[in-house]
Amino acid sequence: MEPIKRNILLNPGPATTTDTVKYAQVVPDICPREKEFAGLMKGLRSDLCKVVHAPEPEYTSVLFCGSGTINIDVCINSLVPEGKKILVVNNGAYNTRAVEVCQMYHIPHIDLKSSVYEQPNLADVDKTLNENPDVAVVYCCHHETGTGVLNPIREIGAMAHRHGAVFITDSTASLGMIPLDVVKDNVDFCMASAQKGLMAMSGLSFIIGRRDIIEASKNYPTRSYYCNLYMQYECFEKTGEMHFTPPVQTIYATIQALKEYFEVGEDAKFARHRRVYEAIKKGVAELGLKEAIKDEIQSGLVVSVKYPDDSNWSFEKVHDYCYERGFTIYPGKISTTNTFRLCALGTIDVQDIEDFFVVFKEALVANNIQVPAKYN
Ligand SMILES: *Cc1c(COP(=O)(O)O)cnc(C)c1O
Repeated sequence: MEPIKRNILLNPGPATTTDTVKYAQVVPDICPREKEFAGLMKGLRSDLCKVVHAPEPEYTSVLFCGSGTINIDVCINSLVPEGKKILVVNNGAYNTRAVEVCQMYHIPHIDLKSSVYEQPNLADVDKTLNENPDVAVVYCCHHETGTGVLNPIREIGAMAHRHGAVFITDSTASLGMIPLDVVKDNVDFCMASAQKGLMAMSGLSFIIGRRDIIEASKNYPTRSYYCNLYMQYECFEKTGEMHFTPPVQTIYATIQALKEYFEVGEDAKFARHRRVYEAIKKGVAELGLKEAIKDEIQSGLVVSVKYPDDSNWSFEKVHDYCYERGFTIYPGKISTTNTFRLCALGTIDVQDIEDFFVVFKEALVANNIQVPAKYN
């Protein structure tokens, strides 16, 4: 197996992958309608449940061909019953995406907006639920990748359940990286795509959720043909297949990635992400750079760094310098502050971060940007 050039991706996914995952895609051609392929997907669906400690058959997973946003679309368009509302607890860009899905499908919703620099206020969530007994679904992103804020989903889930509502969390940027236990965390539906925490390839997304709720949703208003949760679920139950063509090669890569995930184990993987994150914070602090989000509410996976007040600062130039040397940094997603992000997602370790900061510092010096960084 020829080693493939290793790039260190510090963007919030797709992430750096192992060569064994890359090469898992190189397989003999197969028609995905063969029983052999359905068998592969059966094992994959079950393993995905195990990642979030979802007991089967109470929970199941449903696969989709598409990027992570397809899950947000599917959950929202499929799980809101007739005459009911969805409450989006919104403190960032990915929750805003969920609100946009509601708008696009004309689904009655409440956009409970709060500061992107903070976790949502639980008392406000409770008050909104008390005032709106027609809320049937509560939605909140677990790790807001735009800022790196981790949201208190266990508490929000408990609150939703006390009010008889279903709780959906967008766990795209936490699943497989921060331990998640759907039962303890009061999660009815969570989601992710293969290229993030599982460190596989893009093109496969999945929703893990309560089977009884999926079955009940058979009678809910249908708002999409391609992206209906019940339709895809029913197809898997009856035939073991996706309704339409699956992302065949990505599925092989994901199976290999899950094998590697279980070999490493949840605790060791979590610990590795944590030490990569600590190494990023250390490097940022040593250059005098400032973070946009306070430590206590960070996910431990994304560091949002404020642009220095330096007339020579150019994200573009610094990015290009690093990119040419195999390191990818990423712009921020906060409309009120200029930030860039350094993320701890893929199969990288402390040494990669130390190597990165050597190059990053060179990039600053090469562009006459002051070190330590200057802020007014
Ligand atoms: C990456 C991500 C998504 C999906 O984004 P795509 O560009 O569609 O892959 C959804 N939610 C969160 C929190 C994410 O980090």
